[in-house]
Amino acid sequence: MNPEITIIVPVYNEEANIDEALTLIRSHMLQLGERFEMLIIDDGSKDRTWTRIEACCRRFEELSAIRLSRNFGKELALCAGLEQANGNAVIVMDADLQHPPALFSEMVHKWRVEGYEIVECVKRSRGKEPLQKKWGSALFYLMLNRMSGFDLHGASDFKLLDRKVIQAWRDMPERNTFFRGMTAWLGFSRAQIEFEVPERIGSTSRWGLVSLVKLAVQAVTSFSSLPLRFVNFAGALFLCGAIVLGAQTLYRKLVGEAVTGFTTVILLQLMIGSVIMVSLGIVGEYISAIYNETKHRPRYVVRERITAKITEETEEI
Ligand code: UDP
Ligand code: MG
Repeated sequence: MNPEITIIVPVYNEEANIDEALTLIRSHMLQLGERFEMLIIDDGSKDRTWTRIEACCRRFEELSAIRLSRNFGKELALCAGLEQANGNAVIVMDADLQHPPALFSEMVHKWRVEGYEIVECVKRSRGKEPLQKKWGSALFYLMLNRMSGFDLHGASDFKLLDRKVIQAWRDMPERNTFFRGMTAWLGFSRAQIEFEVPERIGSTSRWGLVSLVKLAVQAVTSFSSLPLRFVNFAGALFLCGAIVLGAQTLYRKLVGEAVTGFTTVILLQLMIGSVIMVSLGIVGEYISAIYNETKHRPRYVVRERITAKITEETEEI
């Protein structure tokens, strides 16, 4: 028999937290009295996370684990989890307890009793984070909301999804996934629960600046073609300017005024040159996104897996 709820937790170098997190998540689920499984995806951790997970699998019969062959990034680790989940609903969360398991009962209530198909937990504030990350993400969401037309402000990856939603999500074939955006795109009936982000347990965030910028570019290219349209718009604008300037220069030449505007020429050169560079860059981003989609590579590679004892037992029956 399928579990009612699958909890999906992607982890990367979380050896210090994983025991505490899994124990807490499990105890909250046991309190709820639902049939559940926990699915941990080890995103190619370089520390002893996998050994810890193996030990936990021996202790907790509801625990399954997948180990990816290298670090594919949180988005793809999530993919692996969503593709393998068996539950009638899935709860996606982080391993650092910044997504409080105390919200489970309210999430499940909204799904089971009130009938919502997506329950999203929305950050009331962003908790303790370095200032540059706070500002960076505020700017990122402002831009993304404007461009994509989806309000992702305060969105987190802490969500409950009904089986129907997961099915629809699995039918989205893209390789470049952006979980928050994709669930917003899917629609369905959604409820929101606000929560205060607690401080991260164990060391610092697993996202470096480079991976955050990569995520931002991925989010924009997969959810908006506005930058491409902006290129066209800027192109048209500069063409108009060039026509007016060209006409003026021609007129001056015709009436015999000497052309003295050396500075203007240089400035124009620089301006047009930079606009072309930026435009090419934006076009390049989209081309590389298209290129990645057309490669049809598997999204992630599994190195090994452990199946929960509960699932094994039910399979035998
Ligand atoms: N994570 C992952 N792969 C990565 C980076 C992070 O699976 O390449 C996991 C990480 O272990 C954690 C979750 O994604 O469970 C969120 O990461 P983190 O708390 O570092 O991100 P933040 O809360 O700063 O967004
Ligand atoms: Mg975190």
